[in-house]
Amino acid sequence: MVGTTHNIIILGGGFGGLRCALDLERRLPPEYSVILIDKEAYHTFTPWLYEAATALPRNSNERNQFYEIRKATAIGFTELLRGKRIHFFQKEVEGIHLTDRAITFAGGSIARYDYLVIALGSVANFYSTPGMAGGAYPLKTLNDALTVRAQVYELFERTPRDPYLTIAIVGGGLNGVELAGECARMLKHLCTQFRRDPKTVSLTLLESRPTLLTDLRPRVQHEAMNRLKHLNVSVRTNQHVANYTGQYLLFQDGQQLEVDLCIWAAGIKGNPLGEAISGVQQENGFLCVEPSLQIAGFPTVYAIGDMAYIEDPHKLMRASATAQKAMVQGTLAAENIARSLAGQPPTLFRPLPARYAVPIGGKYALVDAGIITIAGILGWWVKSIIHFKYLWSIMPLHKAMVHWVETTWLGVQND
Ligand SMILES: Cc1cc2nc3c(=O)[nH]c(=O)nc-3n(C[C@H](O)[C@H](O)[C@H](O)COP(=O)(O)OP(=O)(O)OC[C@H]3O[C@@H](n4cnc5c(N)ncnc54)[C@H](O)[C@@H]3O)c2cc1C
Repeated sequence: MVGTTHNIIILGGGFGGLRCALDLERRLPPEYSVILIDKEAYHTFTPWLYEAATALPRNSNERNQFYEIRKATAIGFTELLRGKRIHFFQKEVEGIHLTDRAITFAGGSIARYDYLVIALGSVANFYSTPGMAGGAYPLKTLNDALTVRAQVYELFERTPRDPYLTIAIVGGGLNGVELAGECARMLKHLCTQFRRDPKTVSLTLLESRPTLLTDLRPRVQHEAMNRLKHLNVSVRTNQHVANYTGQYLLFQDGQQLEVDLCIWAAGIKGNPLGEAISGVQQENGFLCVEPSLQIAGFPTVYAIGDMAYIEDPHKLMRASATAQKAMVQGTLAAENIARSLAGQPPTLFRPLPARYAVPIGGKYALVDAGIITIAGILGWWVKSIIHFKYLWSIMPLHKAMVHWVETTWLGVQND
């Protein structure tokens, strides 16, 4: 890799890793080399995945549809890092060896670092529910989103005469609610396209707890429930899935539901690479970090974003896995590396109360901003502005504007 005595390696170019790389580049003198590694050639804009899973662009050419959806969700690192002193390598990490200060990659290559930032994100957590891994479709990556979209489409193509089609989404958190809202719009369009009575297609959202969106305030939970009802989504709370046979979802209370497609949106766990790192304290598969985001015993190693475990003093539990938190931690890790190089003590992470913007089908979003809640088209505009602000934080203004307009246009085509 790049030959310098000051290698700072960032593993993972998601929300946390990319932010950290961009901030480090601004802070550090040229003798330091910032290396960003990701197994994909692109940065995934996850808040758009539910759109990618349900988009039906008006462009009739399959290949162009795919290209449009991919372009909106996946932003190439080459384009993002052009002209920057950040070296990007597309490589799959296989092992992290902290005592040797080394990273091993698929294919056998090795890299050594002076400073390391681990930002490899999370994976779907099926909680060992029998039949789920391999049976249900998760929504964590662009490929997952494209697979869900293809499966829903194929369901309509394959079963034109089936009396009923049932799609179940397991998990009534942010991902499940957002996906259910947009999926309802998609199904409405597919019914028209395939000349199918909408009454013969059902979309069910299943949640094991008594309410949807448990991290949010009751008023927002109530609004979300009403919106989903309005979109004809059948919401079933207190439904703990115990098993999936591929045809039936079996619940802990003995009930069952026949389904044609099951999508899993019920939980996450830290990237499994974390579990294999020896000498690091873990909490449910997440890497425990100190308030400086350093790993105890390894002062030049930081973990950030979904992979890191740090208690949120407001809730006395793991701080929520959000892009917002990952970015704040990316900035802080960059600051603390710069401070360490300057011989200064680190700044400590102080989680801010989380703010949420939850789009639920069409031009409608719920914004939970502490004391106020905004619902409807105004909420959708707030969500769109947040999207634009993010794009502008990682690319020049003119490119952010073009990307935002193209993406927004694609997103509203189901409305
Ligand atoms: C469908 C969906 C919608 C979401 N919507 C929102 C939202 O609206 N607002 C919000 O705040 N949060 C949202 N989130 C949560 C948010 O995406 C995560 O909290 C955030 O991405 C975490 O950032 P991160 O940097 O820790 O990990 P990620 O952004 O997931 O980045 C991890 C990176 O590591 C790379 N990687 C993984 N394994 C390897 C490997 N072995 N080798 C090399 N590279 C690897 C991946 O390719 C990826 O680029 C959503 C998540 C999902 C799944």
